[in-house]
Amino acid sequence: MELFELTAHQLSDMLKSKKVSAVELTKSVIDRIEKLDAKVDSYITVCKEEALKRAADIQNKINKGDDLPPLAGIPMAIKDNMCTKGITTSCGSKMLESFIPPYDSTVAKKLHKEDTILLGKLNLDEFAMGGSTENSHFKVTKNPWDLTRVPGGSSGGSAAAVAANETIFSLGSDTGGSIRQPASFCGVVGMKPTYGAVSRFGLVAFASSLDQIGPLTKDVTDCALVLNAITGHDKMDSTSANVEYPDYTKSLINSVKGMKIGIPKEFIAEGINLEVKKAIMDAVDTLKQLGAECEEFSLPINEYAIPAYYLISSAEASSNLARYDGIKYGYRAEKFSDLLDLYKQTRSEGFGAEVKRRIMLGTYALSSGYYDAYYKKALQVRALIMDSFNVAFSKFDVVLGPTAPTTAYKIGEKLDNPLEMYLGDVYTVSVNIAGLPGLVIPCGQDSNNLPIGLQLIGKPFAEGTLLKAAYTFEQNTEFHKNRANI
Ligand code: GLN
Repeated sequence: MELFELTAHQLSDMLKSKKVSAVELTKSVIDRIEKLDAKVDSYITVCKEEALKRAADIQNKINKGDDLPPLAGIPMAIKDNMCTKGITTSCGSKMLESFIPPYDSTVAKKLHKEDTILLGKLNLDEFAMGGSTENSHFKVTKNPWDLTRVPGGSSGGSAAAVAANETIFSLGSDTGGSIRQPASFCGVVGMKPTYGAVSRFGLVAFASSLDQIGPLTKDVTDCALVLNAITGHDKMDSTSANVEYPDYTKSLINSVKGMKIGIPKEFIAEGINLEVKKAIMDAVDTLKQLGAECEEFSLPINEYAIPAYYLISSAEASSNLARYDGIKYGYRAEKFSDLLDLYKQTRSEGFGAEVKRRIMLGTYALSSGYYDAYYKKALQVRALIMDSFNVAFSKFDVVLGPTAPTTAYKIGEKLDNPLEMYLGDVYTVSVNIAGLPGLVIPCGQDSNNLPIGLQLIGKPFAEGTLLKAAYTFEQNTEFHKNRANI
């Protein structure tokens, strides 16, 4: 096996026992990027020189026998909507094409403190709006399992880079499914933590009440390790939760005996691809055989999750994106007649079609005369969705379902029909609306050999329960061993 194929926990052992050096490892992954990324297009920026220099520094620490954190010396990459000091953070947009942040996001800082090695910044749908990574201003990322297909989105670069072994792990962000859906499409592990568990400081805001940062990894153990590194209270984010954060590796237990798992009937009813449904129901059988108690229940409110999500997220986006005015930072139109025209031209030229669509929808939903009918209604639906999950979690430890109704589709297939793309979020958005943690692991492949992801949803701060269920599933199945043949 090549170094770039291994997991962070395997590599960490090899680094500590000096079987491999951080420089060799980093070179191996950078060679892989140089060889493959022209095909996959997962990176917007590769920091080759900085990464190699940093690897040498970390190796010095290892040689000195310093007591280093578990992820020390591991190369990783970050979605390009998280600020990295001195490194362009474009958000996949012409608007921020030349924005070089003067500070690090909290997650970038934390991973730096962990002695990880930043390889570069990963492609995404512009401002994280989309489900296929086709909305990036720069390039369309390809699915490593089939280069004619999308990797999912908006963290498509983050998922594709892990699946193609162009990084050992990555960070993505998830506002309505953007970690979990690409993880499912690319056959990797992806977790959206509880709202507030990971600081959003330095994450370019899309919809602040829904956005969460989380890991994309090659297996469940790595997911726990990265969670350990990035969770925690942060005074720089007023929504950051000031609670005790456990050591998530303690949840890597091979047992689901007595675990109560609920499956929403509506998640496996009409609209789902039959091969996806079969893989999910097979996973339920596996968990049952391993001692879990699985039962179907009804979550009828989920019918309203997509309209509520698109109203709330677009309303928040329209407000968050008001800051891109051509004055403070980012792109500025060259030709304009007066101040108002400068705003207009800058925003017309700097934003892509999907971002404009969301700004218009959000502004409309918030405008007087429509506020009560749309935005307020959506918030009422949000409260009902939260109530429904509370009821479900009074009975179940985990809610299980598919991640997306289909596997990865062809590039271009849904571009002309944004509504059809929005419908692909039907199983993911309610998790953000209710602020819950959601974990996706590979659970099968369809007849085109494309990965299918199983989604596990938990109570707030029950990441440990999800990791335990996922770890048990992983230890007792072979799906995670199938890799993209690229
Ligand atoms: N596909 C969803 C959207 O377009 C989710 C995006 C996200 O989670 N960032 O809004």
